[in-house]
Amino acid sequence: MPDYLPQDSGESSLWSATAIANPVNRQLQQSLQADVLVVGGGYTGLSSALHLAEQGVSVVLLEANSIGFGGSGRNAGLVNAGVWQNPDHVRRELGAEAGERFNLALRDSPALVSDLVDRFRMDCDLQRVGTVNVAHNAAALKSLEDRCRQLQEIGAAVEMIDGETAREISASQVYRHGGIHDPGAATIHPLNYARSLARAAMELGAQLFQESAIEGLVRQNDRWLATTAHGEVSAEQVIIATNAYADGNSQQVRESTVPVFIFQCATRPLQDDVAANIIPRRHGLWDTQLMLTSSRIDRDRRLIMSSAGRLQGFRRAIRVNWMTRSRDWLFPQTRGVEWEYQWSGQVGVTGSKILRIQLLAPGVFAPAGYNGRGIGPGSVIGKHLAQTIVSGNRNDFPFPIEALYREKWRSSRAGYYSYGTLAMQLLGRR
Ligand SMILES: Cc1cc2nc3c(=O)[nH]c(=O)nc-3n(C[C@H](O)[C@H](O)[C@H](O)COP(=O)(O)OP(=O)(O)OC[C@H]3O[C@@H](n4cnc5c(N)ncnc54)[C@H](O)[C@@H]3O)c2cc1C
Repeated sequence: MPDYLPQDSGESSLWSATAIANPVNRQLQQSLQADVLVVGGGYTGLSSALHLAEQGVSVVLLEANSIGFGGSGRNAGLVNAGVWQNPDHVRRELGAEAGERFNLALRDSPALVSDLVDRFRMDCDLQRVGTVNVAHNAAALKSLEDRCRQLQEIGAAVEMIDGETAREISASQVYRHGGIHDPGAATIHPLNYARSLARAAMELGAQLFQESAIEGLVRQNDRWLATTAHGEVSAEQVIIATNAYADGNSQQVRESTVPVFIFQCATRPLQDDVAANIIPRRHGLWDTQLMLTSSRIDRDRRLIMSSAGRLQGFRRAIRVNWMTRSRDWLFPQTRGVEWEYQWSGQVGVTGSKILRIQLLAPGVFAPAGYNGRGIGPGSVIGKHLAQTIVSGNRNDFPFPIEALYREKWRSSRAGYYSYGTLAMQLLGRR
C-alpha cells in the first residue's frame, strides 16, 4: 500500500520527508462490528480511538487517505493552549457558563499532548520550550495585554514579556515590543504525533484502516452501518472526525466550515552560527500582523515559517516570494538561505471563530471548525468524546453539542480569503 501525503503539484512537505514509519498499512476489506466507529485519522479521530480503546471499548477507525493526511499531517506544530479567540469572546458566543466550561476544558490542552507523548513514548520531537505570541508593533501589544489578562483570569499560566525579552527570545529586531509567553506550550512534529497516536491506539486494541473512505452511513437494526469500497462496519455510535477535509459521505461536515489555506516554507538546515542566532531557545513564535506569520526551528535547525494561502498554480511563486521577503525582514541573519520544502493545508473556519461539536443524528458526533488550532483541541475533544460515550452522560461534556450547522456563502468567503491574502502578498512591501 502506498504511504504518501499527496500535496498540490510542486509542493513538498518537510513533515512527510522526515516522518516515522506509518503504523497503519491495511485497507478495510471485510465486514466488522464495533462499539464505536471513528471516521478520520487526524488528531480528533486518533485521540478518540486511543481513549476509547484504553477504556476497553471496541473501536474501528477508517481513514480515507493515509493517517495524518488532513491538517494533522500538515500543520505548523505549535502546541498552543485554548483557541484563537479570547476567553471573553467565547463567553459572549456561548453564554457565561458554557463559555467558561469551554475555556477551562482547553486551557491546559498542551499538558494532555505532553502526557500522551510521555505515556506512550511517542517519537514526535515534542519540544517543551513554550511559545510566544509576539507583538509586531506597540498598538498590537495593547491587545495582547488584554488577551493575557483574560487568560490569567481563567487560570492560564501565561505572562507578558517586555520588548527586550521578546527581542532576545526571537533574535528579531522587529519583535521588540513584547508579547505573551506561554511556558506550558510546545512545538511538535505534527505528522509524527498523528502516527504515534495511531500506533498507541492500535497497541490498545483499536483497529485502524486507511484508504478506506466511508461512502455510506445508514441506520440498520438500531446500529449504524458504514460502507466503504471494499468493506463495512456496523457500530452503535459514530464519531465523524473529518473536519475541514471531510469528503465522500462526510461531505455535509465540510459545509459546516469555510476552507481557508495556510502554507509553510522550511529552509535547509541552518549553519551552526546562524542557527545559534535565531530563536535561540527554540520557542514557537506567532505574531500579530494582519498577515499572521509563525516561525520556529526544528530539531534539524531548519527555520519553518507559515502564513495564509494555498500554494497552487501561479499563486505559489507569489506567496513563496512574499515569505522570503518577510523572512528577510524578520530574520535578516537567514538572508540567502534556500527554502527546501514548501507545502500547504486547509483549516476549517467558522463564522463565530469557535469550534463546534455537532450531533448529526442520534449517536453520530461530528466535531469541526478548529479555526487553525487543533493539536491541543483535537486531542482534548477526542478524550472527552470517548469519556462521554463510555459514561453515557453528556452533562460532563464541556462543549455545547449542537445540530449540524451550514456556513453561508462558503465559496465567496473562501475566495475572499484566498484573493485577499494573495493581493496583500503581491503588493506587500515585504
Ligand atoms: C497549514 C496548517 C497549519 C496549522 N498550524 C497549527 C498549529 O501550529 N497549531 C495547531 O494547534 N493547529 C494548527 N493547525 C490546525 C490543525 O492542524 C487542525 O485543526 C487539526 O489537525 C484538525 O485535526 P482533525 O483530526 O480534526 O482533522 P484532520 O487532521 O483534517 O483529519 C481529518 C481526516 O479525515 C479524513 N477523511 C475525510 N473524509 C473522509 C471519509 N469520507 N472517510 C474517511 N476519512 C475521511 C481525511 O483524509 C483526514 O485525514 C494548522 C492547520 C494547517 C492546515
